[in-house]
Amino acid sequence: KDTPKDLDPQQLDRRHLLHPWTHFDSFAADGALMLDRGEGCYVWDTADRRYLDAVGGLWCTNIGLGRKEMADAIADQALRLAFSNTFVDMGNTPSAKLAAKLADLAPGDLNRVHFTTGGSTAIDSAYRMVAFYHRVMGRPEKTHVIARDQSYHGATYASISIGKRPGDKVPEFAYAQDGIHHVSAPDTYRMPDGFDEAVLSDRLVAEFEAKIKEIGTDRVGAFFAEPIQASGGVVMPPDGYLKRMADVCRKHDILFIADEVVTGFGRIGHWFASEDVFDVTPDIICCAKGLSSGYQPIGAVIFSDRIYNAMQGDRWYASGYTYAGHPVACAAALKNIEIIEDEDLLHRAKRVGGYLEARLGALSDLPMVGDVRGRRLMMCVESVADKETKTPLPDHLGVGKLISNAAEAHGLLVRPIGALNVISPALVITEAEIDFMAETLEV
Ligand code: PLP
Repeated sequence: KDTPKDLDPQQLDRRHLLHPWTHFDSFAADGALMLDRGEGCYVWDTADRRYLDAVGGLWCTNIGLGRKEMADAIADQALRLAFSNTFVDMGNTPSAKLAAKLADLAPGDLNRVHFTTGGSTAIDSAYRMVAFYHRVMGRPEKTHVIARDQSYHGATYASISIGKRPGDKVPEFAYAQDGIHHVSAPDTYRMPDGFDEAVLSDRLVAEFEAKIKEIGTDRVGAFFAEPIQASGGVVMPPDGYLKRMADVCRKHDILFIADEVVTGFGRIGHWFASEDVFDVTPDIICCAKGLSSGYQPIGAVIFSDRIYNAMQGDRWYASGYTYAGHPVACAAALKNIEIIEDEDLLHRAKRVGGYLEARLGALSDLPMVGDVRGRRLMMCVESVADKETKTPLPDHLGVGKLISNAAEAHGLLVRPIGALNVISPALVITEAEIDFMAETLEV
C-alpha cells in the first residue's frame, strides 16, 4: 500500500473511512469535523477550536465527557479482566452487578437482562425473543410485529427493517418485509384539520386494532415503540396514546417493546420514560446510549420474569454476542449509573430540561421555525416552508445542515436531520450554556 506517511487525521479519514448516513457531496466538500478531546458538554477539534456539543455525542453522552472516574473504572476493569464471555455457564462480576442494577431500575417484573453491543443489536435480540417466547407459549404463529412510520430502531438487518424513517430504505439493500408491519406515527404537530390529541389518539388506536385484525390476532407477536420517536423527528405522542396502545397489546397477547435507546437514563428526567412519563409497563425495554453515556459500546434487553420463565421450556436461547456482558463495558455502565445517582442528574435533567424547553420555545417566533418540540433534553427545531400550512421544506435543500454549519462556525454543534435540528445535550448542561445555544440559533 502506498499511503503517504505525512497525512493529517482528516486526510486519513477522507481516504479510508466510510461515514454512516453522511451525504457524499457535503463530505467531499468539507471532510469530517475531526474531534480531539472533550470535557463536560464541550469538545475540541484537532485545530483546538472549542464547540458546545448540543447533540450530546449522538443523544448519548449523558454524564458529559472527560470524567476521570469513568476512565479509572474502565482502566481498573481492563487490567483486572479485560474480557470474558457470557456464553455457556460463564459469567463475570460487572455484568452480573449491572444486570441486577438494571432490574432494580426497570419497572414491573422486568428483572432479566440480555446484554448486546448497542441499540440495534438490542432491537434485533428483542425481535428474536418475540418469536421464541410465543413459540414456547404454544403460539408459534405469533411472529409478526408492528412498528410505526417515522421510527428508527437501528441499522442491523432486522432493526432497520422494523424502523421506517423516510430515506432509510434504499433500493440497493434488501430488508425483511415478511412479518413486519407499520402503522401511523403519533404526530401531534401535523394532525389533520379539526383533530385534537384525543381524536388523534382514537384514530391511531383504531388503526392499530384494524391492523392487528388484518394480520390476524393469533399472528401478531409484538409492538415496537420509542416512547418519543427520536431521529424520526422527535415525534411527541398525544396524551394517553401509548397507554392505550399498551392496553390493546395486553388484550391480544402482544408484547409491548419499548425502544428506550434514547429516552432511557435521564434524557427526559427518568431512568425509563415508559412507566414514569407514559404510564406503560413494557414487556421488554431495549436500551443503550445513556446506559454507559457512550464511554463504552453496550446495549441491553431488559425483559420480564414472565418471558424468562416461559423460555425455560426450551433447551436454550440460541442467540448472543461475543461482547455481550463485556466486563469493561459493564463496569463503565455501572460507574455511569452511580454518577447519575450520586449527582442526582435525573432531577437536574428535569430542571435544565425545563429551561431548555422554554429557551428554545422562544425560537417559535422566528419566521422559518414551524415547530419547537420535544421534552426536556430531547428537543428539536423544525424549519418549514410555510408556518401556517406547516409545509415541510424538501430534504434536498438541506436546511438543517445549513443551520448546523452556521452554528458550527459559531462554536455550537446541533444535529441536522432533513429540515430539523436536534438538540440533545448532556444532562450536565448549564443554564448559561443553554442561553448560548438559544442565542446562537436565533442568529
Ligand atoms: N433505537 C433508537 C431509538 C435509536 O435512536 C438508535 C440510534 O440512534 C438505535 C435504536 C440504534 O442504536 P445503535 O446505534 O446503538 O445501534
